[in-house]
Amino acid sequence: MIAVRCFEGRKVALFGLGGSGLSTARALVAGGAEVAAWDDNAGARARASAAGIAIVDLAAADWSAYAALILAPGVPLTHPKPHWTVERAKAAGIEIIGDIELFCRERAALAPRARFVAITGANGKSTTTALLAHILREAGRDVQMGGNIGVPILELAPPSENSIHVIECSSFQIDLAPSLAPSIGALLNITPDHLDRHGTLENYAAIKERLVARADVALIGVDDAPCRAIAARLQASGGRPRVVTISALASSVSDIAVEDHRILARGPEAMTASLDLRDAPALRGIHNGQNAAFAFAAARMLGLSLDEIARGLASFPGLAHRMEQVGRLGRVLFVNDSKATNADAAEKALLSFEDIFWIAGGKAKEGGIEPLRALFPRIAKAYLIGAASDAFARTLQGSVAFERCETLDVAAAAATRDAQASVAAEPVVLLSPACASYDQFANFEQRGDRFRALVADWIAAQAPSATNAEISRSRP
Ligand code: ADP
Repeated sequence: MIAVRCFEGRKVALFGLGGSGLSTARALVAGGAEVAAWDDNAGARARASAAGIAIVDLAAADWSAYAALILAPGVPLTHPKPHWTVERAKAAGIEIIGDIELFCRERAALAPRARFVAITGANGKSTTTALLAHILREAGRDVQMGGNIGVPILELAPPSENSIHVIECSSFQIDLAPSLAPSIGALLNITPDHLDRHGTLENYAAIKERLVARADVALIGVDDAPCRAIAARLQASGGRPRVVTISALASSVSDIAVEDHRILARGPEAMTASLDLRDAPALRGIHNGQNAAFAFAAARMLGLSLDEIARGLASFPGLAHRMEQVGRLGRVLFVNDSKATNADAAEKALLSFEDIFWIAGGKAKEGGIEPLRALFPRIAKAYLIGAASDAFARTLQGSVAFERCETLDVAAAAATRDAQASVAAEPVVLLSPACASYDQFANFEQRGDRFRALVADWIAAQAPSATNAEISRSRP
């Protein structure tokens, strides 16, 4: 844990006690601050109280006593309208910050040269963060990974001369971190996302830009217009940050590119050697090419050799529920992409495979699967589940064979049966639902776990017969 000393001896208000909020409160208390914490949820308050955090009804409190409002990233700062604690903090004239900001202040005080990689983007944040951390860890570096992925940032070890903090930042966290100035800032991409919380695309892009604007090195994806504009602006400003552009599309001009499955670097380091992504089974697809190119660039900046990076790329296991390869039965590959809760995410998976036996459905998002029409030729057959079945069936009618299966269990069995009968070289049973899971599951993790368990059962069931077959074949 990082003891946050910048509010030592002072009182702070803290709102939001789920997830990272609780560890933020603990870190502030450990650093000598007097924390007045609150959450609208009684259960969250009880858990915090049990952990020794002082619970104070902030609605009734005297705000003139507080030096700052520490806000959890899930709480609206601006849109759709500022949370009531934000209004109270503004009226009291105190700053409103989050856990990433507290980390930045501790880093500045403890070890300002400590390496700190901050990663953001509309998509691919978690994959890139986990991938870079994996590459560094495999190369024997002292890696501290967290933030918006896994461990809250203040639960990590403090920044030091040898440590490398690899931190995923959501736009909400950036919005609450005015002094964010990482050694390497990575901005993957910007597409309309969370606009309910950021108002306009311009506002959302401006928040994302802040992550790279004050970095020593800014890695910027240039495959979308908002990011291209940011790269051009920072390049034109000269000096800090040093901008390195990255593209996964052959059509773009960039310092680092992905072409024909290879990461190529054209930058000043003149890294003429290239890395072949076909050696990295968990990084299929153009989108993962972008993620891999970012991890490559950051790892190079941190002094890793091409060999070290190649080893890390090849051994990266991938993240659960994101095009996760969960098993094989003969030629059939099973892929769990349960995280694909909308058509945009499912598109990435459909682009990455051919001969797809596609399990889709759940609680539909606006627009359904119409945007995926161009990819329908890759789908051998669709297996529909959940509330979206009728709508998806209407879209597929006349273009793709489909079967209404109601549940994931039925769909997975039917898809496996058909995939095994297919003559394709690598039939893929793909769970990439393009829907939220809430109609049948608690969350996308539970949906993906169920699929993984079904596949594991079938593989286990086949194993003894395969062994018997081997034995009978080997008998004279
Ligand atoms: P995030 O943390 O930003 O939500 P993840 O790494 O968890 O991103 O990936 C979530 C989904 O987003 C993946 O399942 C995939 O469909 C899609 N995705 C991943 N990387 C990219 C990328 N670089 N560009 C576009 N889409 C991506």
